[in-house]
Amino acid sequence: MTTLNEFSNCVAQYDPHALPVTAAQAIVRQWATPVAAVERVPLHDALDRVLAEDIVSPSDVPAHDNSAMDGYAFQSAALADASATVELTVAGKALAGHPFGGAVALTQCVRVMTGACMPAGCDTVVPQERVTRSGETVQFAASAVRGGANRRLAGEDLARGSAALRAGRILRASDLGLIASLGIGEVPVRRRLRAAFFSTGDELRSLGEPLEPGCVYDSNRHTLFAMLRRMNIDTLDLGVVRDQPAALEAALRSAAASADVVLTSGGVSVGEADFTKQLVQTFGDVAFWTLAMRPGRPLAFGRVWSGDRPGLGLPALFFGLPGNPVAVMVTFYQIVREALLVMSGATSQPVPLLQAASREVIRKRAGRTEYQRGVAERDARGQWHVTPTGSQSSGVLSSMSEANCFIVLEHERADVAPGENVDIMLFDGLI
Ligand code: AMP
Ligand code: MG
Repeated sequence: MTTLNEFSNCVAQYDPHALPVTAAQAIVRQWATPVAAVERVPLHDALDRVLAEDIVSPSDVPAHDNSAMDGYAFQSAALADASATVELTVAGKALAGHPFGGAVALTQCVRVMTGACMPAGCDTVVPQERVTRSGETVQFAASAVRGGANRRLAGEDLARGSAALRAGRILRASDLGLIASLGIGEVPVRRRLRAAFFSTGDELRSLGEPLEPGCVYDSNRHTLFAMLRRMNIDTLDLGVVRDQPAALEAALRSAAASADVVLTSGGVSVGEADFTKQLVQTFGDVAFWTLAMRPGRPLAFGRVWSGDRPGLGLPALFFGLPGNPVAVMVTFYQIVREALLVMSGATSQPVPLLQAASREVIRKRAGRTEYQRGVAERDARGQWHVTPTGSQSSGVLSSMSEANCFIVLEHERADVAPGENVDIMLFDGLI
């Protein structure tokens, strides 16, 4: 068994007391392994799940050439023969689901509706707005349509035998439709990841409990619950654990026994870390990092086991997040999320960054990555601007609720002047 420390020492820039975000991300990504189990679920239950195998198209979609318009289908050779005006006789009708079975001569056409199969030999559709019809005769200008126009080809959407969707994809609305278009009603997906979490701190009170002086309500457990659920991860809430070694040990072991990943908040900053560190080391392989990052400097990361020594019992990946509520969210999205995606079996995509001009001076120290909370908006000319929300203190959770993006200030950057471009990471995605 390679230990985390042995592994980390091979990573460039590994300094646990000032670890660059990129180095932490690289270690975490490497340390995460995908869950192996696969289950087959009905199509609707596959939404937001991770596809476990490629979906190979068993047939062409669409299965037949068909009309893209309401109009008249005919052979394009009729265009070449015609002088200025094409005149054709209507031989019959084809509707979506009701094909025309007969033969079509060069001087004939078939009335077709959108989605109707192209009649045999026909390769072009003239839209109905372009024709003059009298009785069973239609006339239109030869210039009104090009040969092959307004026809969808068989296999245009998906060719038979090709991979319609690749394993590792997180299934969204269009994917459910695509799978249905292949006639497939059951989907192989990875088992859902299971995350256990708890908060640590003697000052924390749960909802419904009275708040004595000096105490605060535990908010992190609820933020963690929501962030995990948005990633379609099963959650196990283990409540608030007091700052006592025995309580912490019991909670960590039972979390490792019942989940793939364990997340805690609080108790990893200097001072507290010593006590947690000694404890965790007895049944885990955990590094205590100070990240070159703001917010979210202290972070514990590694593996814990349900037994009383590393390697004994059931393992779980472990993230000891900082206690401050904003730091919890920032470390979750910037460090933990990627590991959870890898563990879920998902092919991860980099989160898109946009460039926005800062409306204000932003104070920033070179040598750490900062994730400030911002409000981004686009002006009439299409240029993005961003304004930091008020207090950037890592305890001010309202700064997250007011914001619609992170302002990502990279490691090397110093102060930002008004008008200077910065990277932003939008909170919302569409589909
Ligand atoms: P710690 O990392 O345990 O020193 O906590 C840092 C700060 O975050 C302290 O002000 C804590 O009271 C606060 N804090 C820690 N855990 C939570 C929590 N679960 N909910 C809200 N605030 C918390
Ligand atoms: Mg604490």
